[in-house]
Amino acid sequence: MDPRVKGIELKLKNVRRIIPIVSGKGGVGKSLISTTLALSLKELGFEVGLLDLDFHGASDHVILNSPISELPDEEKGVIPPVVHGIKFMSIVYYSTDKPTPLRGKEISDALIEILAITRWDQLDFLIIDMPPGLGEQLLDLIRFIPRGEFLIVSTPSPLSVNVVEKLVALLKEGNHRILGIVENMHAGNNLTEEMAERMRIKYLGEIGVCDEIDSLIGEPESIMLSDFGKNLKKVAERIVSGDRPR
Ligand code: ADP
Repeated sequence: MDPRVKGIELKLKNVRRIIPIVSGKGGVGKSLISTTLALSLKELGFEVGLLDLDFHGASDHVILNSPISELPDEEKGVIPPVVHGIKFMSIVYYSTDKPTPLRGKEISDALIEILAITRWDQLDFLIIDMPPGLGEQLLDLIRFIPRGEFLIVSTPSPLSVNVVEKLVALLKEGNHRILGIVENMHAGNNLTEEMAERMRIKYLGEIGVCDEIDSLIGEPESIMLSDFGKNLKKVAERIVSGDRPR
C-alpha cells in the first residue's frame, strides 16, 4: 500500500463524510454547486470544509470573495482559514491565481500534497470541488480517499448526460459510493433523471437557470438567498437525511 494513503487517512480521520463533486464536463456549475452546498450544510448547522482541487479552473475563492494574498497559517500542517463559516482550502493559494501550467504527474503530486498537509480537524462534511472529467485526478482521488461519496453534476444537455453516464459507469465499476446526481440549469426535459434511473443512482434534484447568479458571484450571502441557493439547500437537506426526493 502507498504510505501516503495512510498519511491522508490520518489527516482526514475526524472528517465524518467526504463528498467529492464531479462532472463529466466543465462549465456545468460544479464550482457554484460545491461552494453553495458547503454554505448550505453550514446553514443547516454542520461543521463544513471546502477544498478546491480544480487545478485549471479553481474559482471557489472568487465565489466566496476570499482573498488569496495571504497564505494559510502553518502549524504541524496547513490550517485552512475560516471563510463565511466554512474551512476553506484551495490549490489557488499556491498557484496565486496565475495560470497553472502543471502536467499530469505534477498535478497528481500537488493534489496528494494538499491532501496530506491540510489540517481539517473535526468536520461533519468535507466538500471537494474536483477537476471536470474522467482524468488522472479523479483516479488519484479514488485511490487516496476511498471513502468519498461522489456527487455528480450534470446539465440537461445530451452532451453532458452522455459523458456523465460514462463517469457513473466508471465509479460503479470500481464499487465507489455515489451519493447521487444533481441537474443544474434544468430546462424542461428529464434526460438527467432518466439516466439516473437507468444507472440506478439517486436523483437529488434540480436547479433552474438563475439569471442573476453571475451578478452575485463574490457575495455568498446573496447567493444563499437566490433561487440557486434555495434549490441547493433542498439538495443539501436530501443529502443530510438520505431521503429520496420523490
Ligand atoms: P464549472 O465549475 O462546472 O466549470 P461554474 O460553477 O464555474 O462551472 O459555472 C460556470 C458558469 O455557468 C457560471 O459562471 C454561470 O455563468 C453559469 N451557471 C452555472 N449554473 C447556473 C445556473 N443555475 N443558472 C445560470 N447560470 C449558471
